[in-house]
Amino acid sequence: MTLLTIVPAAGVALPVEPFVGRHLIAGAWRDSASGETYERTSPAHGALVSRSALGAEADAEAAILAARAAFASGVWSRALGKDRAAVLLKVADLIEANVERMALIETLESGKPITQSRGEVSGAADLWRYAAALARTRHGESHNTLGDDMLGVVVKEPIGVVSVITPWNFPFWILSQKLPFALAAGCTAVVKPSEMTPSTTVILGELLIEAGLPAGVVNIVLGYGPAVGSLMTTHAAVDMVTFTGSTMVGKAIAGAASKTLKKVALELGGKNPQVIFPDADLDSAADAVTFGVYFNTGQCCNSGSRIIVHEDIADALVEKVVDLSKHVAFGDPLDPRTQVGAIITSQHQGKIDDYVRAAVKAGAEIALGGGPLLVPGLDGQFYQPTIVRGVTPEMAIAREEVFGPVLSVLTFRTMDEAVALTNDATYGLSAGVWSENVHTCLEFSRRAEAGTVWTNTWMDGFPELTFGGVKQSGQGREIGSYGLDEFLEVKTLVMRIGRTRAPWVKKL
Ligand code: NAD
Repeated sequence: MTLLTIVPAAGVALPVEPFVGRHLIAGAWRDSASGETYERTSPAHGALVSRSALGAEADAEAAILAARAAFASGVWSRALGKDRAAVLLKVADLIEANVERMALIETLESGKPITQSRGEVSGAADLWRYAAALARTRHGESHNTLGDDMLGVVVKEPIGVVSVITPWNFPFWILSQKLPFALAAGCTAVVKPSEMTPSTTVILGELLIEAGLPAGVVNIVLGYGPAVGSLMTTHAAVDMVTFTGSTMVGKAIAGAASKTLKKVALELGGKNPQVIFPDADLDSAADAVTFGVYFNTGQCCNSGSRIIVHEDIADALVEKVVDLSKHVAFGDPLDPRTQVGAIITSQHQGKIDDYVRAAVKAGAEIALGGGPLLVPGLDGQFYQPTIVRGVTPEMAIAREEVFGPVLSVLTFRTMDEAVALTNDATYGLSAGVWSENVHTCLEFSRRAEAGTVWTNTWMDGFPELTFGGVKQSGQGREIGSYGLDEFLEVKTLVMRIGRTRAPWVKKL
């Protein structure tokens, strides 16, 4: 019997000095007005890896005013599309030249495997390139059908100052789903990364300066959500908030932003089902289910954390997924063989375990794992690959984001039941369908309430294909051409040709 595949401490020396991060405001690096700092220890190694300025309202205020002044100056908002594109392309090149440096600190702060960090950082460069292309190609519309004496033109303009608030699970990738698109549109920005994973955002600040982005166009403030983020969501000088994070904080942000009627774009949680019909290619489905649940240690908005499998093939599928799970390499994120790394904090590890315990108490069975994982030589927190069977739709593990390497298995008999189970959720981020029958796949894809539906695959994404959620998974869309539109306001120009308008005032 194969036991789990565990990669022990790789013996790679950690940096002697922690990475030091400061705020970027109006083109200058600054300590916090209070002088306070925040220290991050690696979730895998328990070692100090970064020390960052810990901002508060005064720092956020300075950053917002810098972004407002830069926007009003027109140095970026009225720059030529081709000049904006040139800067974004330069940033993409610089990201690629800095992959190793950025990937290392991303791994140390987040606990994700080093090969994954390298992939995310270099993949993000392509998002910057795609946004550069959009900077030159988006346009409004003209109306030539309103009469010989009328011309209507709808122009697109940058929305203004954007607050960009990002989470810890994909720090650089999510930043790159937002910021280059805001910049392509001509907006200026204040960025706040998660306090746990600020350093790749800070490195990006250096690259933006090197690429020639004018001072004040992008400002970075580091610190906790309430201390920094509150002003970013309420200040009158901010026109829009784009947020990725938990649904709970997303709702609070929407409430805070409503006082000044800012536009709000939200990318929130998910409880994403993969539905497997009896005629599916089971080997491919099992591999995708295994990838979907363990990728990023399950700390992923797109985690395929519940499978809804036809009852005739449930045993066969679970057996395959259990077997594959034992071959997934869990362990030291610095070892290039590792596929699944650490859990972000010990508190979060406790929360994951509570979901599993509660499911067992409610009658579910553990098919694999179900507890913390000890990795030889490492002090951080890890969780075993875990498969929970006999899950019923009302259990918390079937409805809420566990955000760990934990798969819930539910079963169905008919298409209607599969659709009902899929849509019986407060979330609607993504869903997947597995079948060799095109009619089955298309029917499911059309009936699933989700922002993305994958057919015979899971989590493939491209800069061209927009992403976002329905229901409580969010509002608005990122990447693709829609991702640029989020940061554009439309203005209607109505023009009379010649002096043809009949006077309104009739002299009696
Ligand atoms: P979180 O909501 O705790 O924090 C996200 C960000 O918001 C952090 O920078 C945090 O400091 C900040 N914040 C917290 N309170 C705030 C406030 N009152 N005002 C302004 N900002 C505030 O989320 P997290 O734990 O960092 O990330 C995990 C969550 O993100 C999960 O729910 C996950 O599903 C979601 N997520 C969604 C997507 C998506 O695209 N839909 C992608 C990744 C993560």
